[in-house]
Amino acid sequence: MLSAITGLKALIFPESKGCPLCGRRGAPHQICPFCLQVWADLAEGLVPCTKCGRFYSGQEGEMICWECREDEPQYMISRGVAPFEGPVREAVHYFKFCGRRELAYPFGELMAALLVQLFPFRSFSAVVPVPLHINRLRERGYNQAALLAGVIARILKIPLQEEALLRVRETPSQTSLSRQEREANMKNAFIPGKEALLLKGKRVLLVDDVYTTGATVKECCQVLASAGVGEVYVIALAAGVVKDKNPKEV
Ligand SMILES: [Zn+2]
Ligand SMILES: [Zn+2]
Repeated sequence: MLSAITGLKALIFPESKGCPLCGRRGAPHQICPFCLQVWADLAEGLVPCTKCGRFYSGQEGEMICWECREDEPQYMISRGVAPFEGPVREAVHYFKFCGRRELAYPFGELMAALLVQLFPFRSFSAVVPVPLHINRLRERGYNQAALLAGVIARILKIPLQEEALLRVRETPSQTSLSRQEREANMKNAFIPGKEALLLKGKRVLLVDDVYTTGATVKECCQVLASAGVGEVYVIALAAGVVKDKNPKEV
């Protein structure tokens, strides 16, 4: 009888088995040290661009990628927890497309920990997730960025403003598009929501799951700025790895 109950519990709370990524026994809801090490190894020899947070191969130090030098993003700083590669890419895929919404807890915790480490004395007035279009939301059942934003807001005790931004245009998947195509794809995709009024002159934290070309985030920042938001900082679970060189320098 006892084992039947235990089995039932495991069915209802599959995450209680241990690490939500590899299933190793350990603290429930937490990514195990083994998986964290795999993620850390991915960042070996890479440093984040001091502006956009995308990873670059190089030495520790001040470094701005060529894209940010040519076209400085409107936000203050963007950072990602880990490079969007291999196992991190897989984990994001499970989270986003396979209904693994419970991954928002350990992922959000990692993002909150990075924020505390980066900005120990900076306060934010609100956490704003990158919104999904209503049709996509119905299809998927949840907005992964909003789940992450919710966890971060709770841990850091910052108000969550889920409706500061609205997605009014459905955009095709960005994965096969170039940077220019992504930017065009995102044009007029967002408008400020009613909660944006509360954020005039304020410092907000914009949350997305992945930062690759930054087209989505840049468009969101433009809309927030047009609504009078003071400063935007960006946090993502994963940030892309810059492999290409500036075509003008090649
Ligand atoms: Zn694990
Ligand atoms: Zn950059």
